Amino acid sequence: MDIKASSYRRLDSQKIIETAEALKLRIRERFPESGLGKVVEELTQVAKEAVARVEWMQKPLLALRAVAAILSVAVVAVLVGLLLNIRKFQFDDFVNSMQGLDASISSMVFIGAAILFFLSWENRIKRGRALKAIHELRALAHIIDMHQLTKDPETCFARGSSTSFVTKRTMTPFELTRYLDYCSDALAVISKIAALYAQGFQDPVILDSVDDVEDLAAGFSRKIWQKINIIETLARALPPGTVHTGVRVTSVSTTSVTTAEHGELRCRAVLLATDARAAAELLPGLRVPDFHEVTVVHHTTDEPSALTTGTSLLLDADRGGPVSHTSVVSNIDPSRAPRGRALISSTVLGTPPADIDTSVRMHLARLYGTSTRRWETLAVHHTPEAIPAMRPPHDLRRPVRLLAGLYVCGNHRDTSTSA
Ligand SMILES: Cc1cc2nc3c(=O)[nH]c(=O)nc-3n(C[C@H](O)[C@H](O)[C@H](O)COP(=O)(O)OP(=O)(O)OC[C@H]3O[C@@H](n4cnc5c(N)ncnc54)[C@H](O)[C@@H]3O)c2cc1C
Repeated sequence: MDIKASSYRRLDSQKIIETAEALKLRIRERFPESGLGKVVEELTQVAKEAVARVEWMQKPLLALRAVAAILSVAVVAVLVGLLLNIRKFQFDDFVNSMQGLDASISSMVFIGAAILFFLSWENRIKRGRALKAIHELRALAHIIDMHQLTKDPETCFARGSSTSFVTKRTMTPFELTRYLDYCSDALAVISKIAALYAQGFQDPVILDSVDDVEDLAAGFSRKIWQKINIIETLARALPPGTVHTGVRVTSVSTTSVTTAEHGELRCRAVLLATDARAAAELLPGLRVPDFHEVTVVHHTTDEPSALTTGTSLLLDADRGGPVSHTSVVSNIDPSRAPRGRALISSTVLGTPPADIDTSVRMHLARLYGTSTRRWETLAVHHTPEAIPAMRPPHDLRRPVRLLAGLYVCGNHRDTSTSA
C-alpha cells in the first residue's frame, strides 16, 4: 500500500494544528478584536500541547516500569520464599490448617492485587493526564457555545430602527454567518483534538470521555447550523429590513399594522399571533378566555449524582404537594448547568402556596428521595395568565380567518399547549 493511502487511516496531528492555526488567522482577519479569536488562539495552543502529550503517552515510562517490575518481583519472591518454607509452619490440627489456608488465600488475593496495581500504574498516570486534558476541551466547547449564544439571527434583520434593541446589532447577515461558521469549525477542531487521545492511547475510559466531548461538540454545532440555516433562509427570501423584531404593535387593520417604533406599515393581509389578551386589545370583541396560572421554580445543587431518577420527567401521581411535574433539566441538556452542578426545574399549576419555595423543596425531597435543604433557589417565575383554560365544551379549531386579509392564531384559538 502506498504511503499516501495509509496516511488517510490515522488522524494527522500536524494537520489538526495547521487547521487550528488557519482558523485563528481567519477569525483574526475578519473579527480582529473578538473574544472568539482569543479562544481559538488558546485552542491552537491546546492542540500543540495535546500532540506533545499524546507523544509522551505513547512512549513507555521506563523508570516507572522498572520500579513496578522490581516491586512485582519482590512480591513474587516473598511468595516463593513462603512456599519454600511452608514445612516450618505447624499444621498439626484442623483449626491450624484452616487458619493457614484462609491466610494463604487472603495473601494470594492481596499479592495479585498488588501486582495488578504495579502493572497498571503507568496506565493510570497517563489516563489521569489525558482525562484532565479532555476536561479542558469540554470547557473550551462550552466557552465557544457561550460566544455563539448571544448571536441570534434576528439581530441582523432588524434594520432602519433607532431603538436600543437595534443599537446592539453589530453584524450583517454575512458576518454573522461567518462568525457562527467559525464557532462550528472551532468545535470540530475540539472534537479532532479529543480524538487524538483516543487514537494515541487505547483505553476504554478515555474512549468514553472522548465520545462525550464529540457528542457535546456535535450538539453545539447542530444548534449553530440551525441558526445559520435560519439566517440563510431569511436572507435569501427577504429583502434587507423586511423583518423587525422587538417591535410593539399598537393597532391592526386588514391593510396596515401600526407599530410604536416604526409607525404605520402597509400590507395586503395581517396575521395576528399574540396571546389572547393582546389580541383582544388589538381587535376589540375578540373572546378572552379564562386562564390557568403557572409557577416555575428553578433550583440548583452541587450534588447532581443524588438525582439519578432514571427518567426525564417526574410526575407526582399522588399529588402529595404543590409540584405537578419536575425535571433535572441539566441531565437532559448538560449545557444548562456548569459542570458539577444540576439545574432542577419544577412546575406548580394553579394558585401557588404562600410559602412556595419551602413547600416545593419539601415535595421535591420526597420525589427525588434526597435532601433539598442545601439546594439554591435560582428563580421563581409566576405567570398569572399562562395557559388559556379549555372548559367544556371546547372548540378545538376556532377559525383563524376573521375577515379577508385578517387572520388570528395562537394557543387561544385551538389547544392551549403546543405539545
Ligand atoms: C410556564 C409555561 C410552561 C409551558 N410549558 C409548555 C409545555 O411544556 N409544552 C407545551 O406544549 N406548552 C407549554 N406551554 C404553553 C405554550 O408556551 C404555549 O401554548 C405557546 O407558547 C403558545 O404559542 P402562541 O404562539 O399562541 O403564543 P405566545 O408564545 O404567547 O406568543 C405570542 C407573542 O406575541 C407577542 N406580542 C403580544 N402582544 C404584542 C404586541 N402588541 N406587539 C407585538 N407582539 C406582541 C408576545 O411578545 C409573544 O412573543 C407553557 C406555557 C407556560 C407559560
